[in-house]
Amino acid sequence: MSAPEPWTGGPVAALRRIGFLLERGREDTFKVKAFRSAAATLLPLPADEVAAMAAAGTLTTLSGVGPASAKVIEQAVRGEKPDRLVDLEERHGGPLVDGGDALMAQIRGDLHSHSDWSDGGSPIEEMAITAMELGREYQVLTDHSPRLRIANGLSAERLARQLDVVDAVNAHLAGSFTLLKGIEVDILDNGALDQTDEMLARLDVRVASVHSKLAMDRDAMTRRMVNAVRNPFTNVLGHCTGRLVTGGRGTRPQSEFDARAVFEACVENGVAVEINARPERRDPPTKLLELARDIGCVFSIDSDAHAPGQLDFLAYGAARAEAAGVDPDRIVTTWPVERLLEWAAPRSGA
Ligand SMILES: [Zn+2]
Ligand SMILES: [Zn+2]
Repeated sequence: MSAPEPWTGGPVAALRRIGFLLERGREDTFKVKAFRSAAATLLPLPADEVAAMAAAGTLTTLSGVGPASAKVIEQAVRGEKPDRLVDLEERHGGPLVDGGDALMAQIRGDLHSHSDWSDGGSPIEEMAITAMELGREYQVLTDHSPRLRIANGLSAERLARQLDVVDAVNAHLAGSFTLLKGIEVDILDNGALDQTDEMLARLDVRVASVHSKLAMDRDAMTRRMVNAVRNPFTNVLGHCTGRLVTGGRGTRPQSEFDARAVFEACVENGVAVEINARPERRDPPTKLLELARDIGCVFSIDSDAHAPGQLDFLAYGAARAEAAGVDPDRIVTTWPVERLLEWAAPRSGA
């Protein structure tokens, strides 16, 4: 057996990287949780204390540290790259998809991501730090709105508290990265948005998505979506067909609506059609993506990440946009943050 590779990052970085790679590789969330909670437990502890416990073999007495995490920590403390990390780098560290590299190099941000305030798996700061580590200039935090109870959607009061947390996170991340304030707001049955105008006005970016009654009659769904797009607060039409093509939640057909009418409303109102990069969504389907391209829509390539490692899913969306020949300047997430914020300001009538 060859000598272990050196590891100078320490145990927390090793545990975080393992969590990231498990998420990026779409492995079971309970596996991820073990490593992420161990990282959270270790973070405030002095390094010499952790080293002493590693030497004494007592790490598993810490809450949140199981045998697999303890082994990772012991190796990292010895300055060896943990076996688990070596294995995961091999399995999940390579390119996610063929193509899209040139476009990915122009991507500056991501307008759609979730934290553990709604149905995401990690705290806001872990999402923000990971986005920054990935070289993003901005990340929009878009937790769900109140009606989506199953996803622990945020009331106006909780959203107001979250905005203070975003300010605090930004104060600690001063520099070239900004966590932007946002929402993934539910499109109600009549096309209204599921949050108060007062709160919507306090946000930087608003993604509006259909999450219920996906099988609604075609005309009613068209009216519903056009109404949502015309709302002066809407910036992005999220995963427009709602389809699921693979994954643990099974598959689901796309909603029926007049795509031309909806996309024309997007053009008229300067609303971006989301290219939702999640592998189980791949939304819009290629025919609709090409229709939106031909009609003249702008696009937002979004990860819809529910965990830090999923922030890397943007690569899937970039590959699809590039294959469809979408001009990078029509992708709002290639724009600098100033231009993005100017575009996302509420339109007249708000
Ligand atoms: Zn959604
Ligand atoms: Zn989402």
